[in-house]
Amino acid sequence: MTSAELLASLGVAAKGDVAVRSPVDGATIGHVAYDTPASIDAKVAAAVQAFRVWREVPAPRRGELVRLFGEELRTNKAALGRLVSLEAGKILQEGLGEVQEMIDICDFAVGLSRQLYGLTIASERPGHRMMETWQPLGPVAIISAFNFPVAVWAWNACLALVCGDSCIWKPSEKTPLTALATQALLEKAIARFGDAPDGLSSVVLGLADAGKALAADSRIPLVSATGSTRMGRALGPVVAERFGRSLLELGGNNAMIVMPSADLELAVRAILFAAVGTAGQRCTTLRRLLVHKDVYDALVPRLKAAYGRVTIGSPLEAGTLVGPLIDKAAFEGMEKALAAAKSDGGVVSGGGRALSETYPDAFYAKPALVEMPGQQGVMLHETFAPILYVVKIASLEEGIALQNGVPQGLSSCIFTRDMQEAERFVAAGGSDCGIANVNIGPSGAEIGGAFGGEKETGGGRESGSDSWKAYMRRQTATVNYSNALPLAQGIKFDVV
Ligand code: NAD
Repeated sequence: MTSAELLASLGVAAKGDVAVRSPVDGATIGHVAYDTPASIDAKVAAAVQAFRVWREVPAPRRGELVRLFGEELRTNKAALGRLVSLEAGKILQEGLGEVQEMIDICDFAVGLSRQLYGLTIASERPGHRMMETWQPLGPVAIISAFNFPVAVWAWNACLALVCGDSCIWKPSEKTPLTALATQALLEKAIARFGDAPDGLSSVVLGLADAGKALAADSRIPLVSATGSTRMGRALGPVVAERFGRSLLELGGNNAMIVMPSADLELAVRAILFAAVGTAGQRCTTLRRLLVHKDVYDALVPRLKAAYGRVTIGSPLEAGTLVGPLIDKAAFEGMEKALAAAKSDGGVVSGGGRALSETYPDAFYAKPALVEMPGQQGVMLHETFAPILYVVKIASLEEGIALQNGVPQGLSSCIFTRDMQEAERFVAAGGSDCGIANVNIGPSGAEIGGAFGGEKETGGGRESGSDSWKAYMRRQTATVNYSNALPLAQGIKFDVV
């Protein structure tokens, strides 16, 4: 199937003057048109109008729309998964997995639509009832990154829709086609639903400027933004300036601690998936491996051997484990980081360009493993590429200190069969990350838990648990059903 046929099967009319290139081979796979300030303004105005209608629709009925959307995703999983592979470069299994994640969050949101529970709180005043209610918030802007081009939007949008909000999506400029395809599937669900307001969900295409316009728009009470820490640092103050709320999901620099009692076979498999999977382009990719000195010599050579067996190739071909980097800049960033690591005393295995003859216009890289003399320099930053830095540690305390000794705080894990070590890692003095796993790699989170991280990762939480509360307005309401007017704190305020 050609890319034009694939897009047509998903209902995308790829028209416009901006070419979209596939990282698989650099070929143009479609065209899009960018929004203008006027068209962005009109979409926000429509989202405001849609919100006014949608917030009055009972939440379980709003859930019905998300249920229908989940059906569309199930029907179109193969096509959308393939488009994710083609446009973002992740292997087909992961493209399909991304759509599965969208289906899963639909199911979660449908259940949630009957569980937007508030509280009844004991009032200190006689004849009074106090309650806490969660009300729809308003239009939500969702700014997304290239590496999870559709799932992260779904984490946000499915929850926002059942919460009674309208959505405006600004996808990455590197992945506009998957966004248009997803919007087309949602529109199919909206048509079957029957009476959803126009403008309930829209897509705004453009570069960073389009995201900036949404961030600055005071008609949008919540901006959920996923991307680099650099982006969050620019966007956060713009939203805060107008007292908007931002939900930030930014860069990670995730570590694994391997202790002497670890099942090394399990650890090697986990490291491989977490460090080289998605060509190192997950926010939760394993970037720092902190290995206890007693197992360093048993683990690292096995790992190097496993790295040697990794298949690099087109993500659309069965058997490929590592696809391309998103673009030339990503490859150059990897080269620069490896050079910096070398000058810091790192010993590099792997790295460099792969398949340049087969794909001269694409950027495939050999995953690199770098043995570092200590945690320093380039290791403290996120390089969005398959580079794994390895550092020897002498104790769990040292491991935890290094794990926490970077500016980011997204995901972390420990491999151990010692219960005390495992518990210490997930206790108050252990990992400082939003995600802390035991005997599981740092990537591949399930949608049921709240996803996000601390420090420069931005502090936001999305997806499961009670993350839905970010998309709603908390209201405390007190009802006086007595004939008196007692004041709180026993205050007397009567005219004599
Ligand atoms: P990016 O920061 O370059 O772009 C992300 C999005 O922000 C794009 O849509 C872009 O157009 C927009 N944008 C850029 N500057 C902006 C500004 N000043 N105001 C408003 N919008 C702006 O990120 P990327 O290269 O697409 O994605 C990779 C990064 O995303 C990595 O750092 C990765 O760790 C991070 N990421 C984080 C998570 C998470 O959940 N924590 C998930 C996926 C990716």
